[in-house]
Amino acid sequence: MSSNTPSNPANKAPKNNAAAAPEAAGEHKVSNFLRQIIENDLDKGTYASRHWAGTPGDAAHHAAGPLDPAKIRTRFPPEPNGYLHVGHAKSICLNFGLARDYGGVCHMRFDDTNPEKEDTEYVNSILDAVQWLGFNWEANGQSHLFQASDYFDFMYRAAEYLIEAGHAYVDEQTAEQMRAARGDFGKPGVDSPFRSRTPEQNLARFREMRDGAHEDGSMVLRAKIDMASPNINLRDPAIYRIRRATHHNTGDKWCIYPMYTFAHPIEDALEQITHSICTLEFEDQRPFYDWLMDRLCEGGLLAHPAPHQYEFARLNLTYVITSKRKLAQLVYDHKVSGWDDPRMPTIVGLRRRGYTPESIQLFAERIGVTKSDSWIDYSTLEGCLREDLENKAHRGMAVLDPVKLVLTNWAEAFGADDTTEDCTQPALPHSAIAEGQTPPPDRVFKIGKEVWIEREDFEEVPPKGYKRLFPGNVVRLKGGYVIECTGCARDADGTVTEVHAKVIPGTKSGTPGADSVKAKAAITWVSVASGVSAEVRLYDRLFSDPNPDAGGKDFIEALNPNSLKVVTAYVEPSLAAAQPDQKFQFERFGYFVADRVDHVAGSKPVFNRVTGLKDSWAK
Ligand code: ATP
Ligand code: MG
Repeated sequence: MSSNTPSNPANKAPKNNAAAAPEAAGEHKVSNFLRQIIENDLDKGTYASRHWAGTPGDAAHHAAGPLDPAKIRTRFPPEPNGYLHVGHAKSICLNFGLARDYGGVCHMRFDDTNPEKEDTEYVNSILDAVQWLGFNWEANGQSHLFQASDYFDFMYRAAEYLIEAGHAYVDEQTAEQMRAARGDFGKPGVDSPFRSRTPEQNLARFREMRDGAHEDGSMVLRAKIDMASPNINLRDPAIYRIRRATHHNTGDKWCIYPMYTFAHPIEDALEQITHSICTLEFEDQRPFYDWLMDRLCEGGLLAHPAPHQYEFARLNLTYVITSKRKLAQLVYDHKVSGWDDPRMPTIVGLRRRGYTPESIQLFAERIGVTKSDSWIDYSTLEGCLREDLENKAHRGMAVLDPVKLVLTNWAEAFGADDTTEDCTQPALPHSAIAEGQTPPPDRVFKIGKEVWIEREDFEEVPPKGYKRLFPGNVVRLKGGYVIECTGCARDADGTVTEVHAKVIPGTKSGTPGADSVKAKAAITWVSVASGVSAEVRLYDRLFSDPNPDAGGKDFIEALNPNSLKVVTAYVEPSLAAAQPDQKFQFERFGYFVADRVDHVAGSKPVFNRVTGLKDSWAK
């Protein structure tokens, strides 16, 4: 690839569109085992002769269509039974990202074959999350949004085919009998007494199952493979069960439903998926996946070449729980304010917290894909956010723990107590502006006799090395004037109620006299004249234990009691005017976002802390 110099057009001609795409996008993509598999398949033309009829379907359907314009097809197949979380984001970035990089298409598929668990409420939230992350399922003028329940008819037909070909039988043993006869790791299974039924008997029985002649759970359809297989998943797995449940898509049409392990490979095949990427726990299912594809291809029901399954390690993130059930418990037990609580690892939560799609994509890219489980440190995610916002987020000043500073000589210096002066500061530091990019307009804010400063920026008796305000010390109000501290006022309890200082005229930042007096430090501030009161939600990690649910621990006990502290702050006008979702760097404090739910520009500013400027949890 290094020979691909822009000055040599011959070298630029890609071997195929796909492999060149990452470079064309100007991004450096680290290779991984999945990229190697795909590049190898593209080199060999493994999928070059596939057809795509424009919609999912069986072998005959696709054969009638043109050659597939997509070089590869991947899919993201969530069950619509909950909100997506950061682990799903990894899978989304992986599947949509690979399709994008290799001239392919990624299908958005709802895996809704289980009638009990699905809820249409989740469907829109999932679509939103995928789009927000920066992906979509439109390609080649077509939408690739599918639902697995649309394939029930074909799945039924595939089951009848297996029966007719002698590859499936109806088993009437009880669930306990079946479990006992399955054997275990060291013990082969025992054939069911129903295993030797003829295809005709099985077909009749299966049709009775479909027609509602039998009770839920009274019998199942099983693939007839090998009860002695060392892989227990091949010991005649169940592929259809009786379940009287109303399905959100097919209503009461069916009282039998396919098992996930049977349905999933078929969904992939009907959609002409080339690389079916899933998490490691499905590795033991791959032999059945291949067995089923082989049977249905040899029967002519599915098109060659069949999809292939590849497994990668799921995301485990320290300080984070990704089990849907446990996340639901946090919501229903009111440990958090909802699925989009900014402390939740859900995509809606991350979004409300202030994470950007770019930062999550960067994270997915950085953690890569591997074939063995490992833990990723939460600070990696925060680091990606800082990296993304460093050059994007406008700067602004906020005082989170305010105490009033009075410039006692203000009237003397500027004519009257209520005189104000404008100060200007860049919205982005010089280093954040790319060459040729126009800098954003400066921030303008007022300074007057009274300003808010951080309580911790004054010490009447300074500790050793303290450089901020103490009587006699000279500091700069950042972007404003140099001042000399003269003292403070206290209430009966001794709490400082006001800090006093004298302004030194002629020293305003950006004016010729700015450097005439040397300041020991620059402190952040917001004037009483132009500051706006704001609610600031100081979020921190939801759990104080890096592995909150490891080893059967009660994750509720691992909740961080300090994961949210709400303060009333003062912010400069540019921050108060923020649009919901707009991100800022509050100077010295870190990154904050105007809350997308509660913030009202101008009148009721509400900010969430996304993350500090540095990792405060690092040991
Ligand atoms: P459930 O426990 O309800 O099955 P799930 O987390 O497996 O939940 P799905 O809706 O089945 O959720 O997941 C959709 C896709 O997201 C799957 O392909 C799955 O492999 C992937 N996925 C889920 N969790 C993670 C994770 N932590 N890391 C990477 N991928 C994940
Ligand atoms: Mg799942």
